[in-house]
Amino acid sequence: MLKGAKHIGVAMSGGKDSQVMLYLLNKITKPMKIKLTAILVDEGINGYRDKIIPEAKKLTSELGIPLHIVTFKDLVGHSLDEIMSMDKKDRIESSCTYCGVFRRYALNNAAKKLGVDRLAIGHNLDDMIQGYMMNMMRNENLLFRFKPTGGAVEDDRFIMRIRPLFKIPEKELALYAVLKGFKSVFVECPYVGEGFRPLVRDFINSTESKYPGTKFKMLQNYIETGKKVSESFAASNSTEKKINSCEKCGEPTSGKICKSCRLIDQLRIKRKV
Ligand code: SF4
Repeated sequence: MLKGAKHIGVAMSGGKDSQVMLYLLNKITKPMKIKLTAILVDEGINGYRDKIIPEAKKLTSELGIPLHIVTFKDLVGHSLDEIMSMDKKDRIESSCTYCGVFRRYALNNAAKKLGVDRLAIGHNLDDMIQGYMMNMMRNENLLFRFKPTGGAVEDDRFIMRIRPLFKIPEKELALYAVLKGFKSVFVECPYVGEGFRPLVRDFINSTESKYPGTKFKMLQNYIETGKKVSESFAASNSTEKKINSCEKCGEPTSGKICKSCRLIDQLRIKRKV
């Protein structure tokens, strides 16, 4: 993941996973003379992100790592709270869809501005297998994109994503954070109940309690299946391999307009009505 890296952008939420990732990456990359910059996306969720941001500021300042903050408000014109307070007919997607799409957009945007050559994402083993299972349950057919490193298509416009924590269970990360004395505010996003993920998380956790080892087996299956699917995707003539530049923002996309710009347009148009 680090081979050839010179400057890594570390996606930082301020929670325990991103704190552990930043701490360990700093430890590992310092002797390698790789520069780190933490990138924090503030979605504008009152009572949640504003409580966690101080933790991110504290750790980055202790480690002497620059922190770059980007807000939904600056980037797309609305905080997530503002979007969710709009009339339901004016926002056709769920909170987690707006949040996920705009967060990816914000991270890519910040990573390009900062000139990083890697973007480290703090997905742990639990996040990875929850995503895997959600993909299957929704029949999203996105397995070809699932990789611990990189994405489906090699293209200079994509900044390589790395997931250094992908084999580590969430519980172990929490334990490590406690042992290291990282302060973490345990607050839950007020929109969490709207998502599909909590159901999948609870199901996997209860299965793991009854049949220990299930999570590691799922991860192994995910890696093996993902590898086969991405190999056959690479050998195929799929139109999704063709990468265009979004006509509005220039970001890479398989269509003409990227998903973020489509969502931004939809919100602006609806607001004027
Ligand atoms: Fe965003 Fe949904 Fe996670 Fe809240 S629960 S931070 S809205 S993805």
